Amino acid sequence: EGVTWGLLPRPCHVLVLLNPQSGTGHALQLFRSLVQPMLAEADVAFTLFVTERPNHARELVRAGDLSQWDAVAVLAGDGLLYEVVNGLMERQDWQAAIKKPLCTLPGGSGNALAASINHYAGNTQAFKEELLTNCTYFLCKGLYAPMDLVSLSTASGKRLYSFLSFGWGFISDVDIASEKYRQLGKARFTVGTIQQLAGLKVYKGRLSYLPVEMSSSAPGSPSEQNSHHMPCSNGRPLHILPQPAPGVPRPPHEGSWPEDPLLVPFDQPVPKHWTVVPEEEFISIFAIYQSHLGADFTMAPTAKLHDGSMHLFYLKAGVSRLGLLKLFLAMEKGTHLDLNCPYLHYLPVRAFRLEPFTSTGLMTVDGEPLACEPVQGQVHDQLCRIISG
Ligand code: ADP
Ligand code: MG
Repeated sequence: EGVTWGLLPRPCHVLVLLNPQSGTGHALQLFRSLVQPMLAEADVAFTLFVTERPNHARELVRAGDLSQWDAVAVLAGDGLLYEVVNGLMERQDWQAAIKKPLCTLPGGSGNALAASINHYAGNTQAFKEELLTNCTYFLCKGLYAPMDLVSLSTASGKRLYSFLSFGWGFISDVDIASEKYRQLGKARFTVGTIQQLAGLKVYKGRLSYLPVEMSSSAPGSPSEQNSHHMPCSNGRPLHILPQPAPGVPRPPHEGSWPEDPLLVPFDQPVPKHWTVVPEEEFISIFAIYQSHLGADFTMAPTAKLHDGSMHLFYLKAGVSRLGLLKLFLAMEKGTHLDLNCPYLHYLPVRAFRLEPFTSTGLMTVDGEPLACEPVQGQVHDQLCRIISG
C-alpha cells in the first residue's frame, strides 16, 4: 500500500472546494480574509472552486483530472467533504484517487472532523475563526495521516463511504431538524436538541454488531466475559469466518470497489460471533468514528483518525427527558459515559447491521440524510489520508 503518512511537497498546489452556503454563509469571506494570506505565507498555491449546488463538488472530483493538485481541501462543513470522499470512491481509479491527501477547513455549521483533528493535535477546544486558523495552519505545515473510512450498504443497494458517523433516531433527527436554523451556526444543534426533546420518539429495530475484541480474538475468549450483552458464540474458530458476501449489492463498475469481508448479505443472519442486541426499542443509535460530533460535542473522547473502529452508542427506550438532557450536556466535555446511565451502551465495533422495523423517517451519514432502510457497514482501515496537525 505504500507510505500513508507524509508531507506535502514545496511548493505545492491545493484545490480548495468551497460551499458559499455552508454555515452562516461566510465561507468565501473567511477564505479571502483568513485562509488565503496564510497559504501565501506558506508558499501553498491554490485553485479555488466555489460550488453552485449540492453534488457539484462530488461531480468534479468524480470526473476531473486530479493529478495537478497535491491535496484537495474543503472549506465548508462535513457535508462537502462527504461529497468529496464519495466522489473519489466513484472513480474507476478510486484506489489511487482516495489516497489524495484531503483537508478540512471548517466553514460550516457542522465541523466535526475539523474539531476532532484539532483535538488529536492536542489543541484545546476551538470555535469559528480560531478553529479555522488552526486547521489552515495544519494545511500550511502539510502533514497528512491515514484515516479510516466506513463502507455502508443498504438493503436497496446503495453504497456509501463515511468518515464521521452513521446514526438513527434522536441525534440524527436533531441534525436534520436543525438544518433550517443554519443561520445560527453551531447553536442550531442546541435549539434542535431542545425541540426534539419535547417530542421524544421511540425507534424500533434490530441492531447487531461485531465488537472489536471479537474480530481480533476467537469467540469464547476471556474478553467476552466483560460483555453484558447477549453473546452469540458457537465456538467456531474465527479464521474460517466470516464468509465473503456474494449477495451484497455491487455498484455498476462491478468488482472495482473494496470488498466487505466482515459482512454477509441482508437475507442471511449476521455471523454467529456477532452480538445481536436483545432490546429492540431505542431512542438513538449512533456510530461515530472520530472524537467530536461538533465543535463542543465530544462524543467519543478516545477515538483516533485510524483506530480501526466505529464507536457505537445506543440509547435504549425508557430514559427520561431529564436523563437524556444530562447526557447531552455531559457530551460537551465527553463525560457522558461517567454518568453510568443504564440506558446508554457504548462499545467499539468493526461492523454493524441495523434493521429498522419501519421505513419512515431518516437516518444520517456524516450528517447527511439517508432514507430509512436496513443498513450495514464495516471499517476499512486507513483507506484515505487527511491533513492533520
Ligand atoms: P453545513 O455544515 O453548514 O451543513 P456543508 O458543507 O455540510 O455545510 O453543506 C451542507 C449541504 O450543502 C451539503 O449537503 C452540500 O452538498 C450542500 N451544498 C454544497 N454546495 C452547495 C451550494 N453551492 N448551494 C447549496 N448547497 C450546497
Ligand atoms: Mg453539514
